[in-house]
Amino acid sequence: MAEQQFHSGFVSIIGRPNVGKSTLLNRILGDKIVITSDKPQTTRNRIQGIHNLPGCQIVFIDTPGIHRAKSRLNKYMVDVALSSIKEVDVILFLVEADTKPANQEETILNTLANADAPVVLVINKTDLVAKESLLEKMAAYSSLYPFRAVVPVSALTGDGTDKLVQVVRELLPEGPAYFPDDILTDVPERFVVAEIIREKVFRLTHDEVPYSVAVVVESFKERPDGLVAISAVINVERDSQKGIIIGRKGEMLKKIGIQARGEIEQLLDTKVFLELFVRVSREWSENKQMLKEFGYE
Ligand code: GDP
Ligand code: MG
Repeated sequence: MAEQQFHSGFVSIIGRPNVGKSTLLNRILGDKIVITSDKPQTTRNRIQGIHNLPGCQIVFIDTPGIHRAKSRLNKYMVDVALSSIKEVDVILFLVEADTKPANQEETILNTLANADAPVVLVINKTDLVAKESLLEKMAAYSSLYPFRAVVPVSALTGDGTDKLVQVVRELLPEGPAYFPDDILTDVPERFVVAEIIREKVFRLTHDEVPYSVAVVVESFKERPDGLVAISAVINVERDSQKGIIIGRKGEMLKKIGIQARGEIEQLLDTKVFLELFVRVSREWSENKQMLKEFGYE
């Protein structure tokens, strides 16, 4: 009997703003972090989330900036579609069950005509429509493009999303796990956020706590309204350092938080809710386990 092969690959979710891309990804990843930054300095195709299954790893790739390009939407959509079809194994084209195919969607589909990767039509928000109208919708879209599969889902209720993952899995080529299975999402971005906080600590405390600060971003979540909630721990080695960072009546920590938040908001181009904690982790810089935990290998 042949051994079961491992399958893996890159998947991008494209579609008009508001069709439910982020919601779908959150649903598939089980409430894990989905963050959609689209700064030019980050790599063009960013990892948005990694879904590990027995025998399979699906790496979801961000398609940047769609929500920001309203005025140049059509051109932009084409660019995004073009760049992502070159580099992924499967394309999920997400549309809404309760609207007709729009111009923007036809534009994307025309672009996808050159795609090497199989395109799966995902009809989202099925909770909003009756079954019959869904069939019509499937027919209307199928006449526009030879989709490899058509999967109706409700990202909101989770209806059909398991089926969708199954369909994706079957389309992925054989390949290794690209990432260790404890990595769930975009680690580099968390790392950058931690570095920003660390830099503010140094700057504002005038190096009174040099080399003894490790910042760990413990949670990083994009809410449906676009706000990103971040909670981070500033680890120091001694109580005296904790005192300096918190400051009189918490003034210093507040300052650190305000400045760091401002910069993180610029980086992510969205409102940020930043929660900071200070923890004394004695001699973390000597402790292998802690070093690893804090991101210093
Ligand atoms: P994106 O711009 O494509 O990432 O869309 P979002 O994921 O931000 O979703 C846009 C809006 O549609 C949000 O208000 C979601 O709550 C809503 N939404 C997403 N999926 C569903 C769904 O399956 N059913 C319903 N009723 N609403 C949904
Ligand atoms: Mg989104």
